[in-house]
Parts: sequence; C-alpha cells; structure tokens
Amino acid sequence: MRQEARRSLGLYAKRNVCIVRGEGAYLWDSEGRRYIDCVGGIGSMNVGHANPFVADAICRQARTLMSAPEMFYNDVRAVLVERLVQLVSADLDRVFLCNSGTEAIEAAIKFARMATHRPNIVATTHAFHGRTMGALSATWKAQYREPFEPLVPGFTRVPFNDSEQLAAAIDDQTAAIVLEPVQGQGGIHPVTREFIETTAATARQHGALLILDEVQTGFGRTGKMFAFEHWAIEPDLLCVAKSIAGGVPMGAVLVNARIESFPAGSHGSTFGGNPLACAAALAALDFIESQRLPERAATLGEHFQNALREIASPRIREVRGLGLMIGVELHEKAGPYLSRLQEAGILAANAGEEVLRFLPPLVIEREDLDRVVAVLAELLRMP
Ligand code: PLP
Repeated sequence: MRQEARRSLGLYAKRNVCIVRGEGAYLWDSEGRRYIDCVGGIGSMNVGHANPFVADAICRQARTLMSAPEMFYNDVRAVLVERLVQLVSADLDRVFLCNSGTEAIEAAIKFARMATHRPNIVATTHAFHGRTMGALSATWKAQYREPFEPLVPGFTRVPFNDSEQLAAAIDDQTAAIVLEPVQGQGGIHPVTREFIETTAATARQHGALLILDEVQTGFGRTGKMFAFEHWAIEPDLLCVAKSIAGGVPMGAVLVNARIESFPAGSHGSTFGGNPLACAAALAALDFIESQRLPERAATLGEHFQNALREIASPRIREVRGLGLMIGVELHEKAGPYLSRLQEAGILAANAGEEVLRFLPPLVIEREDLDRVVAVLAELLRMP
C-alpha cells in the first residue's frame, strides 16, 4: 500500500485495504480477509467478480486476436454490435464503441452537435457524467469542474426533476439534453416519471436530442436491462459503459435514426471496439440474460430497500433507489459508517457526504444483503 501511495498523484481518497482477489459478490484483501462487496467496481461488476464465463472468453480471445483497429472489420465486434442493438428495446440501430463512460458521454456530445449543427447542451443539477472536458462540462459539482476551467462553452444546468425549468431552458439552439435516469454520484436520485417524460417530449418538440447516461444504470442494475425501460420514453443516444464487459474497460453509444452517419475520421478511438473487450462483453451479456440479472436486481433490490427502511433509525433521512442501486441518506456524514462497515467485513461506497451507496454485483445472495442490513442497523444503534 505504501509503495502505491508513494507513486500516486493523490487523486483518490483511498481506503486502508489492499484488495487482491474477488469471486461473485465477495472480495478478499491481502491479509486473506473476506468482504461482502457492495461497491461492485462502482457499478462495473454486475456479473460478479472473476466471472468464469467472462474470464474464459477473455483467455480464448487473448490467444486469438486482441487488436483490430476500426480501420478493419472484425468478426467478434460484428457480433457484439448486432447483439447490443437487439438488446435495447428502442430504435437505436447503430453503435460507437469506446473504452469508458466519460468517452461515451464525450462522443455523444460530439455526435449531438454534429447531427443538429447546434451548440448547446442542457444538463441537470447534481449530475455526474465523467471527467474529460466535455463530460466534465455537463457535470454539476464545482469541486470537479472549477480547477480545470475554462471548460467547453455552451453548457447550462437546470434543477433535476424540475420539468418547468427544463422546458424553459430548451430552445432552437439546444443540441441535446443529457440526463442520468438515476443520479449515481449525485446521491442516488431517480428521475420522476413526469420529468423524464416531459424532457423527452420537450426535446422532440424543439428538435433537440435526448442523451441518456446509463453508464451506471445499464445492464440490469435498476431492475430492467436499461433504466429507460421503466418509463414511456426512448433516448436518441444511449451511453453505456461500466458493466458492459464484465469488468473489462469498454463504453458504447447507441444512436437512433435522428443521428446521421458522419464523415470518416470525424471521431474515433484506437482501442474502441477491440476484440478482447468485445469478447468479454459478449460473455457478460450472455450471463446477464441467461441468469436474468435484471429480474434478480428488481426482486433483491425491493427486498433490500424494504429491509433498510425497516431499520427506522432517526439517523436515516431517506432510503431510495431503483433495483440494486440504493442510497441511504443519513443526517450525518457517511464516512465513519463506511469505515465501520469495512471493519465488519462489508465494503460500500458513498454518493456525496451523507449518502451510503450500495451497488453490489447483481449475483449477490439475499443472505448477504440481510447481513449488510443487520450490521448497518447495529452501527446506527451505537451511541
Ligand atoms: N456517467 C455516469 C452516470 C457515471 O456514474 C460515471 C462514472 O462513475 C461516468 C459517466 C464516467 O464513467 P468512467 O469513470 O468510466 O469514465
């Protein structure tokens, strides 16, 4: 740990633990201690750690072909893009592949500007879309943005879940609205039906595009394959990443017919669509579908949320979420509770200062969620 700390730029507030192994919803540290993992690679491990199907696919592909830049066609990529298009229950029929969530957002912003020939992007308060300059310009927290200003011009923010202010912010210069269906980093806030449906309708009315950021909500997390399926809307651009490839870095943007084809060379990525990540993604998608992970997230998520509500501690302000994307907002700082959970063998994240964030792999067992609830209840009872 000391070696790693000495060579780091200090960008991450690291926990005092060195994780060396994982299996399903468990992680082990270098001392051999086992943890129930409710961080889930910040939402990138829906299929569970060291998933054997994904691991086998990676090994096979690594021995066959790891790189085929998009100047060439590739057999595995061809299967994956078709698979992604079939997976979404919307008219999103073309795919751009990249390597992370922020790259997916960055690409979507560029595609929206290029398709509409308009400059402006509307985002929401408390949004988190990533750390590269475009995605960062759509991100809310001043602490993330201000050290890097000037950012990209043309971005405005409207209060999340405020349909009236959103409608007032869209005009004939708006290229797109970018929105998380459930805000993750911003504190686990689901959109209201009214807000997301009004947003989609208003965007249409003004010729603007709807970019949904499903980087954290995608691939079963919220109890549907994609969170937008909870409402009567369809995005024009769907950004995904995190769990798409079972833990291997990958991102994607799926687009509908409102996005034209672009001139060759106008955007691209060296590693985007590499056969290794594509093979991992195909195995991960097979697993998510065959194990019905979205349904599992819906059932277990409801059970977990209800059990957390039953704790009924005066220290809890609110329990909220969708599927297995759950936040427990406290009346006090979350940090000390995360440390005590860790001491008790449970790893969880925060979402802002006062929210405990639970994003377990969707393969987690009910008994392990019950253990998390029991331990948290005990901690909240302590003076
Ligand atoms: N969008 C959302 C909703 C996210 O939660 C994240 C990461 O947490 C990102 C974008 C950025 O993804 P990445 O860290 O892969 O760049």
